Amino acid sequence: MGNGVAPLGLWMRMSLVSRGSRPWLHHVAPPVLRCVLRADCRHPGKQMMSERRTHASVTDVDCTCGYLQRAADDPDVPIQFEASTGEYQFTYQTEVWGPSMLVIYHCPFCGGAAPKTKRAQLFHAISDAEEERLKELLHPIKTIEDALQSFGVPDSDKPLASSSTDNEVDEEPARTDYWRSLEYRSLSETVDVSVLEGAGGRVSFSMSGKRKAADHRD
Ligand SMILES: [Zn+2]
Repeated sequence: MGNGVAPLGLWMRMSLVSRGSRPWLHHVAPPVLRCVLRADCRHPGKQMMSERRTHASVTDVDCTCGYLQRAADDPDVPIQFEASTGEYQFTYQTEVWGPSMLVIYHCPFCGGAAPKTKRAQLFHAISDAEEERLKELLHPIKTIEDALQSFGVPDSDKPLASSSTDNEVDEEPARTDYWRSLEYRSLSETVDVSVLEGAGGRVSFSMSGKRKAADHRD
């Protein structure tokens, strides 16, 4: 898990508004959550991925071998069960990110599907109307300076906060890119928006649903 990022698309939705960037991304959510999103994992609240755990899953047959639970019960094994999301997760530490985790979609022993994540219940889905509104708002933003001028001081400004990686395809090695990221949490009631500086200074954007208040969960 060298570069520390993993595909995950159930609870966030990413929109590519600007040109010149790869059509899939990142998200960084403190303190332990890091995910890479793919644009084909959309509609987090609508569960368009059928029973398969990811778009790449080759089976939807559930794991029944008990390995994940036994591993989570063993304090010497870096697998934990996260009750709030219903997920088994690999846990690890990195110098830059501190405590981190990767969601486990399939049992490492039998290959069966791990329990379904409850993330979609924990985070707001992004409605089509809200996405369109935000796209209109973001459309004029071409550079980081535009964002700072239009939206003011961001809630966070991370020089290396965002990363993307690709699986090995056509014998090309996996790749990870790091971009400056400004996060704005006040542009929407339900969505946090990140402005990401890409190659040549052009920007792209990501949107992620805010965590729901405890009394608003479905
Ligand atoms: Zn299993």
